[in-house]
Amino acid sequence: MSAKPSSNGSPAGPIGPTGKDGPDRQDVQGGERDPADAWHSCDCGDKHWGSRGAAGTLIIRDRDVLLQLRPPGLHHGGSWGLPGGARKTGEAPLGAALRECQEETGLDPGFLEPVWWWVASHGGWSYTTFGAQLREGADPAGVSRAGTPPGAAGNPNWETAALEWVPADQVADRDLHPGFAAAWPDLKRVLGQRMGLIVDTANVMGSRPDGWWKDRAGAAVRLRNQLEPVASSGLANVLPDGPSGWFPEVVMVVEGRARGIDQGESVTVVHAPGEGDDQIVKEARRALEKGRSPVMVVTADKGLIGRLGRAGTDIMRPGRLLALIG
Ligand SMILES: [Zn+2]
Repeated sequence: MSAKPSSNGSPAGPIGPTGKDGPDRQDVQGGERDPADAWHSCDCGDKHWGSRGAAGTLIIRDRDVLLQLRPPGLHHGGSWGLPGGARKTGEAPLGAALRECQEETGLDPGFLEPVWWWVASHGGWSYTTFGAQLREGADPAGVSRAGTPPGAAGNPNWETAALEWVPADQVADRDLHPGFAAAWPDLKRVLGQRMGLIVDTANVMGSRPDGWWKDRAGAAVRLRNQLEPVASSGLANVLPDGPSGWFPEVVMVVEGRARGIDQGESVTVVHAPGEGDDQIVKEARRALEKGRSPVMVVTADKGLIGRLGRAGTDIMRPGRLLALIG
C-alpha cells in the first residue's frame, strides 16, 4: 500500500510557511534549510518530498472528509489529496501532520481529535496518515474558507488551491493524488471508528508483582498515570487488521480498596460499586452503544472474557498492555 497524499511540498523554516517543492524555493522565502526538506527517490518509482518521511491529516466530520486540491505546477498538481508534508528533522509524524494541517487549512490543531493512524511504508520511506475527528465547536465552513487560491494577495499557503468537504462515498470519484488513492480504501473502512480501551484495573495490577497488595490505591494511581499518555501518543499494532495505531478513549474500572482514586486528565476512572466484572461488562456495553469500535478490554479473567465475548469486544492481555505502556 502507498499513501502520500501530498508527499512533496512542505514548509521549511521555523517561522511560518517557507519554501515548497524543492530547495530553490528555500532561499526565496527566507526559511532556514532543514536537511529533511529534500526529495527522496523512492523504491516505489515515484519521488517524495521529505527525506525523513512525511505525514498528513484526514479530517473527518461525520461522513465527510476535507480534501485539498494541489495547484497545477506542484508534483501531482491538479490532484486531490490531504493537507500534509515533510517531517522536519527530529519531528514526530503527528507533530508534522498537525503543523502542516494548520499551515495549509488554517485550522487550530486544538479542534482536531486524532483517532487512529496508518503508516504506508515504501521501504526506506514512509507516509503516516492521521485520522482526526473535527471537534464540536470548530467551524467546518471556516476550514474550507481558509484555503485561498494560489497567487492571491497575501496567500499564506500557495500549495493549497482549494479545500472542500467531500462525502466519503464521493471521494473515489475525484482525480486523487496516487498515494492517497491507494490509501483511501483502508482509510474509508475505519472512517467513523475510535477505539474504546477498558482496563480491568485489579486484574492488570495483579499481573505485576510491584507490591500492589500493600497499597492498592497507590498502585491504581501508578497505573492510571502510566495510561495517561496513551490518549495522546496512542497504541501501535494492537490488532492484526486495521490501522497501524489507535488513540483510544481510556476507561479504568477500579474496585475494592482502589476505589476513590482521582480522575485522570484523559483517563476516565469508574468506581465499581460492587463486583468489578459487572461494571466492566457495563462499561463495554456503554462503549459499544456510544459507537466506539473496536472496544478493547484489558483482562486475563477467564469468566469475564467469556461474558465479554458475547458482548462483541476484543481482549488484550495485561502483559501486552504493560509492555506497550511500560
Ligand atoms: Zn514511494
